[in-house]
Amino acid sequence: MKTLKKYAAPIFMIGVFEAIAITLWLTLNNVFYFFNFTYIGGCISIGLLLYIKKVKYARRIVQLAVGLYMLVYLGLISNENMQIEGFWYYLFLGIFEAATIHYAVAKIFGPLLFGRGWCGYACWTAMVLDFLPYKHPKVPRRKLGFIRYITFSISLLFVTALFFFHVGNLERIMFWSFVIGNALYYAVGIGVAVAFKDNRAFCKYVCPITVFLKPASYYSLMRVKVDTDKCVSCGKCKKVCPMDVDVTNNSRKRINGTECILCFECIDECPKKALHL
Ligand code: SF4
Ligand code: SF4
Ligand code: SF4
Repeated sequence: MKTLKKYAAPIFMIGVFEAIAITLWLTLNNVFYFFNFTYIGGCISIGLLLYIKKVKYARRIVQLAVGLYMLVYLGLISNENMQIEGFWYYLFLGIFEAATIHYAVAKIFGPLLFGRGWCGYACWTAMVLDFLPYKHPKVPRRKLGFIRYITFSISLLFVTALFFFHVGNLERIMFWSFVIGNALYYAVGIGVAVAFKDNRAFCKYVCPITVFLKPASYYSLMRVKVDTDKCVSCGKCKKVCPMDVDVTNNSRKRINGTECILCFECIDECPKKALHL
């Protein structure tokens, strides 16, 4: 029973992803979805197993395995625009494939189960940003979260304009918007990380995808909880948290609660073993 509890997270993740993989394969009659979601779920579960076995960089290994697969194979080789513009594009076309499925699973409904796990283990933007040296923000969070609504609106307006003005060769435009969009994300992401001395500044202030991610994450089944009887209020968990979450409060309204990327740095750091999933 104790062993089952210890491995609950990887079992849960592989179970969720296999259910998605098989459902999409059979309902859409496309075996790609089986391999795609089995690969992603497999990587995440192996990463969680490595974490349980205390392998250093377990999360980073998963980030690279999933992030590079999505950026290089799906994006650049298979020409699937998995960025937010691609989501709007396929949504406007009424096609429930590729980017729309990806957004539904990872960013709109999935966070009800695994919160911002996408941001901790799979995002190819954060995959690069997490190599920067500002792992633990030293300065208080700025009130700049409104920027995400501006970038969100720009992405929506961009794709709306393409349809409104009947621009041709949309598939090609989507491919190049994926290439240019990613280059911009990396440039801005690195720029704000250096400016704020915070690897995750882009995630906190600029990323338009958080408009989708945050509401469902509020209700996430998977979340870090504190055993208040054990906590001695030493503050070490807050110091190592890359997303400024007040994990010493179990309320869903805790400070920056919808920002947790399930990196487990706080759990590892707690001297009283007061934190757990
Ligand atoms: S907030 Fe955006 S850039 Fe950051 S990890 Fe999540 S999806 Fe990626
Ligand atoms: S340190 Fe803890 S609270 Fe902060 S993002 Fe990681 S798992 Fe979440
Ligand atoms: S590190 Fe542990 S003991 Fe210290 S404040 Fe956080 S939960 Fe409490």
